[in-house]
Amino acid sequence: MRVPSALASLSAMLALTAAVPATSQDRPAAPPASSSAATPPPAAPDPASRLPKPKLILAISVDQFSADLFAQYREHFTGGFARLLTGAVFPQGFQSHAATETCPGHSTLLTGVHPARTGIIANSWYDAKAGRDVYCVEDEHDPTSTAKEPVVSSAHLKAPTLGDLMKRADPAALNVAVSAKDRAAVMMSGHTADAAYWWLGKGFTTYRGRPISAAANAQSAATDALIEAGAPELPVPSWCEKLDRAVPVGDFTVGTFRFPLKAGDYKGFGRTPRVDAATGELAVRLVDEMGLGKDPVTDVLSVSFSATDYVGHAYGTEGVEMCIQLAQLDATLGRLFAALDQRGIDYVAVLTADHGGFDAPERLRQQAFPGAQRLDPALKDGALSEAVSKDTGIKAKDGQLLHGAGASGDIWLAPGLTRSQQGKVVAATVKRLKANPQIAAVFTAAELVRIPMPQGDPQDWTIEQRTRASFDPERSGQILMMTKRGVVPGPNPGYAATHGSPWDYDRRVPMLFWRKGVAGFEQPDPVETVDIAPTLAALIGLSEPAGTWDGRCLDIDGGEGDSCAR
Ligand SMILES: [Zn+2]
Repeated sequence: MRVPSALASLSAMLALTAAVPATSQDRPAAPPASSSAATPPPAAPDPASRLPKPKLILAISVDQFSADLFAQYREHFTGGFARLLTGAVFPQGFQSHAATETCPGHSTLLTGVHPARTGIIANSWYDAKAGRDVYCVEDEHDPTSTAKEPVVSSAHLKAPTLGDLMKRADPAALNVAVSAKDRAAVMMSGHTADAAYWWLGKGFTTYRGRPISAAANAQSAATDALIEAGAPELPVPSWCEKLDRAVPVGDFTVGTFRFPLKAGDYKGFGRTPRVDAATGELAVRLVDEMGLGKDPVTDVLSVSFSATDYVGHAYGTEGVEMCIQLAQLDATLGRLFAALDQRGIDYVAVLTADHGGFDAPERLRQQAFPGAQRLDPALKDGALSEAVSKDTGIKAKDGQLLHGAGASGDIWLAPGLTRSQQGKVVAATVKRLKANPQIAAVFTAAELVRIPMPQGDPQDWTIEQRTRASFDPERSGQILMMTKRGVVPGPNPGYAATHGSPWDYDRRVPMLFWRKGVAGFEQPDPVETVDIAPTLAALIGLSEPAGTWDGRCLDIDGGEGDSCAR
């Protein structure tokens, strides 16, 4: 019942915003200075707003690309990143919320609202009606959808994306997304994707029931051929050499892998920089197939590169692996920009990330962070359920008493408890969590609904405010636990490090804007990823009612012009 009601409220919202007078959404080719004879012309020249609207918005997400990695590697970039560094550089962007995971993070990028409004509170959440975790881009009401093989859908997303709004303003606008991850492509394109592709272990795929286009099939064939053939180790740039050192993590080591690809190793392929190259190549094929950026109506192409995240999880963030990955991604980005240049497309590019990341505690402890540690197993949901059952004498009718503990984030109670039992279980769980030395803060849903949505500078938000920004009373747990800085779940085989905490290493991401002919600059004052949608909307003259976005328009013209004043 929830999803249809969410969809109903979305369509009500779309209908409401559609009622805005058409004049504010008209797209005159003339410069905006001529919009009213009564308005005096601006005193200073306004190069950004004198530029015609870009024909294509290229919105890039680099999964797990923290502001820390950007700071560490920016001096070495010579490819696509180097171009972005000549534009508007915001080194301190914030995914302001606490739930620093892929799906919530991607949901903020082009909707311009925090996860509390996108409804995407986590990569998955426990659904009492379904009796299981549901995936953020799943339609669990489809009887064929299972936890293992979810039917992919945008139904959970409660806000329109920029592409959705552009298409509503002019149905000729094209809204296209590609990623190695389904949740990234779905969250960036939203409800009206003309094409959305993601890597499915073997080949690129799309929504069920949609044909896979010739371009996507061609890219899948090319990628499959590469995997079948295998590939040698990737080169180690000289600036990566100091990081090339083995560190034991659990029963494996990280720090020295160079990504050789064994012939036929489809699983291994997904954890190498090569999956980003394939994603970028498919993006270019889709530009050609769909004619993106060709006609006067602006299109949007979202590209989410996933390998940085896969590499960060498998090997941590401070080994030779991440260094090689970012060097390869720099080249992949360079090829993508060059392909658009060759086609003569006038585009604006933005690059950011869905969340930051953190290294493996085993290496952090060697490198001046003695407090880094692995999560106490007593905080995992199985152990916590048993302990709370013992404390209260209450057991779930079926399965565990608590779901979802084991990292910063939500804890859901098992269904079927009476109101009084729920109260006792919440109180006992909160008490146990607060007594654990690894816990920084615990909130109940009842507390969070009462606090207002945070405003102002995201670096000053309290942990409670960060948690509020990714809280949705319909979907969030009854309890939200936040572990202390430096506490990392795992390790699991092949999984050394992760993100998902409310701490700034997971919240801070770079935000880089570039457009030919617009003066670049660097602005270290914090901004938010929810600022991206209104910033891009201003560039194409798309006007939406107040309150549409949680963010604000950023003036990306470093000169006297104001790209927000169209
Ligand atoms: Zn991740």
